[in-house]
Amino acid sequence: MTSSKDIVLDHVSIRFGSYTAVDNAFLTIRGGEFFSFLGPSGCGKTTLLRCISGFVDPTEGRVMIGGRDMRNVGPNRRPTALIFQNLALFPLMSVADNIAFPLEVRGIGRKERRRRADELLDMIALPGTGDKKVHELSGGQRQRVAIARALAVEPDILLLDEPLSALDLKLRQHMRTELRTIQQRVGLTFIYITHDQGEALTMSDRVAVMNTGVIEQVDAPEAIYNRPRTAFVASFVGENNAIPGTVRGQDGGIATLDTPVGVLSGIAAGGRHYKAGDSCILFVRPERLVLGTASADGANRISGTLEKEEFEGNIRIAFVRVGEFVLKLSRVNDGLAAPLASGAPVTLDFQAADAAVLPVSSMA
Ligand code: ATP
Repeated sequence: MTSSKDIVLDHVSIRFGSYTAVDNAFLTIRGGEFFSFLGPSGCGKTTLLRCISGFVDPTEGRVMIGGRDMRNVGPNRRPTALIFQNLALFPLMSVADNIAFPLEVRGIGRKERRRRADELLDMIALPGTGDKKVHELSGGQRQRVAIARALAVEPDILLLDEPLSALDLKLRQHMRTELRTIQQRVGLTFIYITHDQGEALTMSDRVAVMNTGVIEQVDAPEAIYNRPRTAFVASFVGENNAIPGTVRGQDGGIATLDTPVGVLSGIAAGGRHYKAGDSCILFVRPERLVLGTASADGANRISGTLEKEEFEGNIRIAFVRVGEFVLKLSRVNDGLAAPLASGAPVTLDFQAADAAVLPVSSMA
């Protein structure tokens, strides 16, 4: 069911000459969702956002907003507002005048503009700051003012193009929570683009992971992390040990793989059907590997030698050499476990459901 606020990308491709920046994007963003496009630099995120806002036309396919085809609907007539990386605020103007600027352009009178600016300042939790100058505000406060200015025109959809990238790490992390809170308070659709997986995973209801113009997976953050559908998603989102292998056989949902770290016989095939001889990549996250005990059944056991262990405060990262391969294992620093000695023989165990076997072709 399409609701009146949904955004549908209906087989959208965008080409610049012979270069395909967005390749057959097909998805629905639901009204009221915090939806992120996540992908490396150059994968086509900004182009897609510009297409939703009306600054770029699809070469093929169409954008529908609220059931209406947006072809021939210019940026100013779409229910969208765009926030750029550099915010584009006027530093010498007051906060209230910045927020009310789009209303002034629309010919709304001074008193009403101020009333609306004050209302928006309450909404972004900066009440009483309307008379300050923008240059007197902190980076995070400016960020919120930019959001208020975008909200002044009462859009249904706020499009945010890496809006936190100019801020320092601490503030960026703080603003993730703030943005999510503001989005929930105003109840609008936020479409957010970022190459920062932490941002996408913490704030979003759903995330689309993009690679070279192609949307590889659209899912809730937990599903993206726990059940990647392609090798690209598995390697781009979070840390992963990637072990190339060949399928020996599959019995029901369980596959046996030949890998450089040994034969692994209890691997969940993730709904796919593999044939003997298929090339694949096995992904196991460092935190899902467990230092083995002699009593474990050993179906998914890898034996190696500890090369070194790094201390990172909250976790310890062990590097375990298995032939040509070095696998990473992370464990929580509970203050009790002793550091491991370099050169010690170790075994690594993992549960079938904690690994993802994916076809090599999905690496793209
Ligand atoms: P970043 O995170 O670095 O901004 P992005 O994922 O947003 O990257 P886009 O800006 O959408 O990527 O660009 C995708 C590709 O399309 C890039 O290779 C870029 O060079 C190309 N591109 C974008 N706009 C144009 C244009 N107007 N003409 C030609 N090529 C373009």
